[in-house]
Amino acid sequence: MFTRVIRSINSLFKSSSQYVYPQEAKIIPRDQHSISRKRISRSAIKVMKVLNEAGFEAYLVGGGVRDTLLGGNPKDFDVATNATPEQVRKLFRSARIIGRRFKIVHVRFGREIIEVTTFRANHDSASNSAESRQSKEGMLLRDNVFGDLRSDALRRDFTVNALYYSLDGFSIHDYTNGVSDLDNKLIRMIGDPKTRYQEDPVRLLRAARFAAKLSFDIEQHTAAPIKQMAPLLENISSARLFDECLKLFLGGNAQATLDKLREYELLAPLFPATSARLDRNEGFDQALLKLVMQNTDRRLANEQRVTPAFILAALLWGPLQDALAQQDPKNPPAMRMHKAAQKVIDAQLKHTAIPKRFLITMREIWDLQGRLPLRSGKRAVRLMEHQRFRAAYDFLLLREQTGEDCQGLGKWWTEFQDADESKQEEMLAALPKGKRPRRKRRKSNSKEASS
Ligand code: ATP
Ligand code: MG
Repeated sequence: MFTRVIRSINSLFKSSSQYVYPQEAKIIPRDQHSISRKRISRSAIKVMKVLNEAGFEAYLVGGGVRDTLLGGNPKDFDVATNATPEQVRKLFRSARIIGRRFKIVHVRFGREIIEVTTFRANHDSASNSAESRQSKEGMLLRDNVFGDLRSDALRRDFTVNALYYSLDGFSIHDYTNGVSDLDNKLIRMIGDPKTRYQEDPVRLLRAARFAAKLSFDIEQHTAAPIKQMAPLLENISSARLFDECLKLFLGGNAQATLDKLREYELLAPLFPATSARLDRNEGFDQALLKLVMQNTDRRLANEQRVTPAFILAALLWGPLQDALAQQDPKNPPAMRMHKAAQKVIDAQLKHTAIPKRFLITMREIWDLQGRLPLRSGKRAVRLMEHQRFRAAYDFLLLREQTGEDCQGLGKWWTEFQDADESKQEEMLAALPKGKRPRRKRRKSNSKEASS
């Protein structure tokens, strides 16, 4: 009993002191870390140098430091500075201030963009609402309260994302024990996880994304509130959620990310209908999504093009089947598909935005699934000229690979594309007959209508 009390007092003490961070950073000198200047983007170094020469502090931070320390290739480089966005803009001809909720400066070098962020501070020190705003639920609506290096480190999300690399001595500055978490492969929230998720629920998705990308575990206090807080994502704008979806599924680790999202019940706030189908244990949906995610990761690794429309077509394919099953069987197939697709899309747009161009492509991939079996006459050759034929054919192959019975259609199309003209004619002649009468029926319908 006594030891239990002591233990619980200890754990209380631990949980409150856990989030106290030192006033001074731990400084890791050049000879004790693995970041070499050669691995860092020249543009980022240039930005830091220009800022330093103008008398400002400048550090590389975020994924650029984290991924370089892990021996990987960062996707982009972010610089943090004590110069204000205006001061940064004046130093670079190609600089542009962007954002309102969170003002940053983009400095462009050809196709590369270096993101320069002014040190932010905790909102307790906010002096006016033009700089800081918080909703009733504690969500940060605006975050432009400037601060110093330490306050900037503490407002970042995870410890491994709050490591600062300086050109002065090429050292790393660590306020939150991020280097140790990096060594132990842990995603740990800075500060009290619940409060930090409340401030910005997108951090829930980021925890899952980084855990998947880096093959790290989510530290237990950071992981504990995720499922319970997942519904907070409903307060995030659908446009921002779509941007996050792109990072989740087009970051090269889609398969692992989808697994993490499901593990932490984060798929439901993004794709509720998909998540519900998966929870009903629809084996075919699981298999299709797994294949599509693997395929996407493989294509990205080979530097092949991927379109979000293809992934969306797969994510919403299950819900589309449900909607198709509810359609009036008396309607022609194209109309059933049209109505079902519209229903699925209308429901999804309440959660994530989807830009029109992706919606159009996604619908074409779906429509073509219904048209690929109809090959007689000139149809097959015409279908091959369709702009989305390739994507639709790939989608069909994935459906078949999951065990769906498409009556050999994938194999037929593979052969047909490779065949010369006479072989193609042979293949068409061998198709089962009997699709023609539809036209006649339509004629008689129109007669009826005109009489
Ligand atoms: P990657 O670019 O590989 O996705 P990253 O860590 O660089 O990973 P970014 O989204 O580019 O992620 O953000 C840069 C840095 O900004 C992060 O490392 C983190 O320190 C901070 N950051 C980004 N988003 C948030 C957020 N929602 N809350 C707190 N800090 C954030
Ligand atoms: Mg980044």
